[in-house]
Amino acid sequence: MVRYPVGTSGQTLVLTDSVLAHFDRHRQRKWLQSEAGGQLFARIERAEIRVEEATGPRRTDRRTRMTYHADRAEEQHEIDTRYPQGLHYVGDWHTHPTAHPEPSLRDLTTISETVCRSSHSLNAFVLIIVGTDCASTSLCVLLHDGRNQLRLHPEHRLQKGESRGADGHALDANEGKYSPGAGNPAH
Ligand SMILES: [Zn+2]
Repeated sequence: MVRYPVGTSGQTLVLTDSVLAHFDRHRQRKWLQSEAGGQLFARIERAEIRVEEATGPRRTDRRTRMTYHADRAEEQHEIDTRYPQGLHYVGDWHTHPTAHPEPSLRDLTTISETVCRSSHSLNAFVLIIVGTDCASTSLCVLLHDGRNQLRLHPEHRLQKGESRGADGHALDANEGKYSPGAGNPAH
């Protein structure tokens, strides 16, 4: 399980172990392996957005090494069947064939269009890009509110030999201090 504090909102995005394992299975480690992707479903409690399921890839998606086009009808079916179980669609994930993935312009356009299209209780959508490494640095986790993106960083990133940030924003779970990036989509 990895926890990502959301700016200064007090909210936390949680990726459960089963979701992380799903990402691991689809990392593009092999040359010519196609991009994979799918949707993210979460239970939303006041301060916690807990991603419990990552769907896809599906047989009907169109995939190449550099592109991924989801089957939109199947996506809607996933949303409709999970909603009654309290699992809300909160965003998308896909892989990139690089160790340190960054969203492409097309990725950002797609997610902002999705935010604007949806009537949703969340003010932002999640985009996760899965890189080739197993390290948490090989996951790019973004929130997008249709205008601005906020890159999220996992809690407890202090590792051997690493000291607290020079800006004084120690990654301390009790204080939850994070300097927000661009905007704060949770408000
Ligand atoms: Zn992409």
